[in-house]
Amino acid sequence: MNEFGGMSSDELRDLYRELILDHARKPRHFGKLESATHSAEGINPLCGDKLRLYLQVDAAGNIRDAAFEGSGCAISVASASLLTDSIIGLHERDALAKFEDVTSSLTASAGDVQRSIKLGKLRALEGVRQFPARVKCATLAWHALRSAINQQATPARTE
Ligand code: ZN
Repeated sequence: MNEFGGMSSDELRDLYRELILDHARKPRHFGKLESATHSAEGINPLCGDKLRLYLQVDAAGNIRDAAFEGSGCAISVASASLLTDSIIGLHERDALAKFEDVTSSLTASAGDVQRSIKLGKLRALEGVRQFPARVKCATLAWHALRSAINQQATPARTE
């Protein structure tokens, strides 16, 4: 059993391509989050991707809201958009577990079915495994997520 019962792998690939393009063209939760309690920057000099991720985390450690701003290639923007969609409502520790799932999935050899099923629509990002130079684009926002969660206070703001 899987969540895409009956679909061929070609159909899935097309679906994922559409999902990536859709998130790249219309990123979700794009912009500065004024209520942010955590934030971190992610820079990928190889491609020129640069983004800042914002999290609003409550006292119990639940991520109430998330947003990002910055600029980069389609993969980096789509990945950040998918990230914000997938972590809002999670506890910090579950978001960190997702970080592990996504980053290890993108750097693992193909065929880790268990992990793929757990990723749900984040499987869309697995296509970049065929393009090693793109893996850093896809994982950039996730590294920013880990940095944001691990820091203890909101960084100094210049405005
Ligand atoms: Zn990139």
